Amino acid sequence: MSKTYRIALLPGDGIGPEITAVTVQVLQAVGIRCDLNFEFSTGLIGGIAIDETGSPLPEVTLDLCRSSDAVLLAAIGGYKWDNLPRSQRPETGLLGLRAGLQLFANLRPAQILPQLVDASSLKREVVEGVDMMVVRELTGGVYFGMPKGIFKTETGEQRGVNTMAYTDAEIDRIARVALEIASKRGNRLCSVDKANVLDVSQLWRDRVAALASEYPDVELSHLYVDNAAMQLVRAPKQFDTIVTGNLFGDILSDIAAMLTGSIGMLPSASLGASGPGVFEPVHGSAPDIAGQDKANPLAMVLSAAMMLRYGLDERDAADRLERAVTAVLDRGERTGDIMAEGKTLLGCKAMGESLLARLEDTS
Ligand code: ATP
Ligand code: MG
Repeated sequence: MSKTYRIALLPGDGIGPEITAVTVQVLQAVGIRCDLNFEFSTGLIGGIAIDETGSPLPEVTLDLCRSSDAVLLAAIGGYKWDNLPRSQRPETGLLGLRAGLQLFANLRPAQILPQLVDASSLKREVVEGVDMMVVRELTGGVYFGMPKGIFKTETGEQRGVNTMAYTDAEIDRIARVALEIASKRGNRLCSVDKANVLDVSQLWRDRVAALASEYPDVELSHLYVDNAAMQLVRAPKQFDTIVTGNLFGDILSDIAAMLTGSIGMLPSASLGASGPGVFEPVHGSAPDIAGQDKANPLAMVLSAAMMLRYGLDERDAADRLERAVTAVLDRGERTGDIMAEGKTLLGCKAMGESLLARLEDTS
């Protein structure tokens, strides 16, 4: 009996539709080999949703996502909508989706694939073998803490305020996600905070430590965020799983991403307590190359692998997808963003076809 999963597909803007087409084909091929049946339904989000419905996240799209087992999102935004007021931009659709699905945990792996070591901006000795996961809290912290706003003081000055706040429950749930992930990876968790200055960080540190005692196999360490930023660039191999709050995670996950040197390769996952997760590449809609069959579909394909692994718990299928990506790179096949001397340049579609052929080889 094959298992059926309902997948909400949100191709969005720019290169989104091209990389989505490849990802769907590849998922279907993996499904056949692993006895999984994917029912895809497509929804509008971002700029295209604004054009067609007036809203970056139409209610029907959110309903579709809520009733699905997982959401695969490609990319949103583009020059065309850049002049809209901030509250009406395509990107607000993504914020609405995160809020609507209560996605509090953002997972961003940064792995240096041996085939792409030279794509990194750092030295080979520094980056070779890097394989880490950054777990960022996504719905709390200084982004949402109260009070927030620009206020007038008694003396008539303006005062901008945001508040970094976490409750123990908010810390516990992200810590648990991170501990679970660490226990499935290298059994090392580094919690990043600013406990030497911030009270909220002291609570963070205490709660993470308390929960970690339930995971005796996971070795827990703590770093201040400034030191963590330095260590990420100086000696990134020391990290396995990192857990941190919303603002620190925003910054550290971008540093970790740039170690790999190729935005077209980076997947991400956002998970909630229950309900579907959202799986999407880290890169944007790349309007400069949209519609030219130049996009690298691998970040989205790897996001689909994260969907299989962390969203649907189909590890065998996830492994197969990741092996197909590695096999393509082993053959020297590259899209423009990761092209190097002596390699073969492929377009988005051809990359998809090669992935399908590699899935054939390994079945
Ligand atoms: P956003 O604000 O949506 O994150 P951005 O301005 O940060 O967008 P991206 O859309 O991620 O930028 O693109 C940055 C650069 O990387 C562009 O030159 C783009 O063409 C390139 N790029 C991004 N994604 C890919 C991809 N999948 N394949 C090839 N090139 C890409
Ligand atoms: Mg960006």
